[in-house]
Amino acid sequence: MNYVPSHKRRSRFLVFGSPLVTEKEIVAVENVMRSCWLGTGPRVEQFEQAFRDYIGCKHAIALNSCTASLHLAMLASGVGPGDEVITTPLTFCATANAIIHTGARPVFVDVDADTQNIDPQRIEAAISPKTKALLPVHFAGRPCDMDALGALAHKHRLLLIEDAAHAVEAVYKGRRIGTVGDMTCFSFYVTKNLFTGEGGMVTTDDEDLAARIKMYGLHGMTKDAWARYSDEGFKHYQVVFPGYKYNMMDLQAAMGLEQLPVLEAYRQRRCEIWDFYTQEFAGLPVQTPCTPQTDTVHARHLYTILLDLNALSRTRDEFMDALCAENIGTGVHYISLHLHPYYAREFNLAASDFPNASHISQRTLSLPLSAKLTDEDCEDVVRAVKRVAAYCAK
Ligand SMILES: *Cc1c(COP(=O)(O)O)cnc(C)c1O
Repeated sequence: MNYVPSHKRRSRFLVFGSPLVTEKEIVAVENVMRSCWLGTGPRVEQFEQAFRDYIGCKHAIALNSCTASLHLAMLASGVGPGDEVITTPLTFCATANAIIHTGARPVFVDVDADTQNIDPQRIEAAISPKTKALLPVHFAGRPCDMDALGALAHKHRLLLIEDAAHAVEAVYKGRRIGTVGDMTCFSFYVTKNLFTGEGGMVTTDDEDLAARIKMYGLHGMTKDAWARYSDEGFKHYQVVFPGYKYNMMDLQAAMGLEQLPVLEAYRQRRCEIWDFYTQEFAGLPVQTPCTPQTDTVHARHLYTILLDLNALSRTRDEFMDALCAENIGTGVHYISLHLHPYYAREFNLAASDFPNASHISQRTLSLPLSAKLTDEDCEDVVRAVKRVAAYCAK
């Protein structure tokens, strides 16, 4: 494509998903370095406590990723070989991979065309005697229909484990995501609403599950390192399960502790940007995200548009390349998993099996959405999208 960028294009490349690192995180990490307690210690404990208070759940276990959190949430509840777990194909591969790592089989159910969340009405047809759990993803930070999912889980005696990697601030009908299902898994990866570099958290109200996740996350030992080496004297550990090395470090927790108090202010800023984009894109051949469902709080993690390919003479990838030439970084969330070679082959999936997820995969484009963006950055994004849309118009 021979797209020639505007002579007014912004001078610096706008990196998609760049974290908002402030002096607070820098000082917090420095203090951990100076304390010499780099691994799992007092900061992790504080972060778990602060996260519990924020979510309003009984237990929060910090781990080194959301992928690890999903893996252990399923293992702790007994998901394993021979089981099936129902999930959405419109997600990051980690969701399905965590299922596969337990030995269970992911069963994909198409999404709703508007919310892009798993469509509860299509789930019952996918339930079999082997189904053990539902694993919905709150896509882009929009809470799933938890009433419908909860009713299905109850009726068929399934676990409800949520992938809330996008949804740390989300609320469903007055209940925070993290307090609704049996277990909820959060991500603190670099690009997420709350970042610790790498990091994750499982929340649950079930004491046994929490204890098992904690133990599985550190080699299956019954006393963690913090307890063993503290000033209360040396304590022997006992290994009761061949666990994993999934623990969070104090270095990571220190970053997270600084962000919990500003999460809502950051979300408010993303709401402003969201509204600005939606207002500016009216009349362009793009579909903007549908408004959040009533009685929910949308965590506003991603602003995804769908290109109207009937009105454009270019593909989504060409549209993205042109935005890149304008120095605007974008993302794709997602190419649906059934279109990736591994899942297509292993689970015998065709594009036509998931018409909505296939449609979205071809057209979706995520624009920068972060409290880090200045008004000028947002204006640059809008100007570039308008120019590229005009260039790509039929
Ligand atoms: C980022 C992400 C994950 C994985 O999170 P990690 O913390 O990187 O393991 C899982 N699911 C979704 C939907 C994600 O966006």
